[in-house]
Amino acid sequence: MEIREMLYEGKAKRLYSTDDPDALYLKYKNSLTAFNAKKKAEMEGKGELNNMISSWIFKYLRSKGIDSHFIERIDELSQLVKPVTIVPLEVVVRNVTAGSICRRLGVEEGMKLPRPLVEFYYKEDELDDPLVIRDHAVLFGWATDEELDRMTEMALTVDSVLTELFSSIDIDLVDFKLEFGKDKEGNILLADEISPDTCRFWQKGTRQSLDKDRFRKDLGDVLGAYREIWRRLSEKKEDN
Ligand code: AMP
Repeated sequence: MEIREMLYEGKAKRLYSTDDPDALYLKYKNSLTAFNAKKKAEMEGKGELNNMISSWIFKYLRSKGIDSHFIERIDELSQLVKPVTIVPLEVVVRNVTAGSICRRLGVEEGMKLPRPLVEFYYKEDELDDPLVIRDHAVLFGWATDEELDRMTEMALTVDSVLTELFSSIDIDLVDFKLEFGKDKEGNILLADEISPDTCRFWQKGTRQSLDKDRFRKDLGDVLGAYREIWRRLSEKKEDN
């Protein structure tokens, strides 16, 4: 396969076209950013861990019938993905209160919600990805009602599959962010990545953060936490 020009560079990944019109090459970077890139660092090994973790999770989700842009992992830092048009919404699912919801609503951190909460954020760095309601998304043309229903349904399925998976490796899945894209037939597929950059993972019992909060809050040993997630997932490898 021939890798051609770079189509897009994000905070954590670069996307390239290839000689196959149905495959793009996605290469993970070692950069770590938080607060809309106001805080930045380079961390040798982070790209590889996120590529391994995200590939593992997308494969696992595929085995449970949840489709994503993921085709296959190529090497330590890269994977092949299907071309999709990204829906400009971030879909956040919360099981336990943490992060922005605590700041926004003044609720205590660590409250188990009676059922999963699904929120939509408009993907616009200049506005710091604001929380929006369904009607904003529909009336401004970011997604149709049907697409929002489909994304909500898929997000809740991902939540129940991943909550069970992480629970089996002694981790509470507190919350996570998903992105979706549309393929050329108009099907909604999961896209982007699912990794410690995009999820909150708490060690059961102690609530120790094993995710990007270690970087956001200067808790130290960021890479050690990512490695620990990878170690526990890869020990389940026989399932995947
Ligand atoms: P927050 O709204 O900041 O509390 O984030 C909720 C969840 O979504 C956390 O697991 C975050 O890591 C994740 N998340 C929110 N926004 C982003 C983003 N722009 N990039 C990656 N993950 C995000």
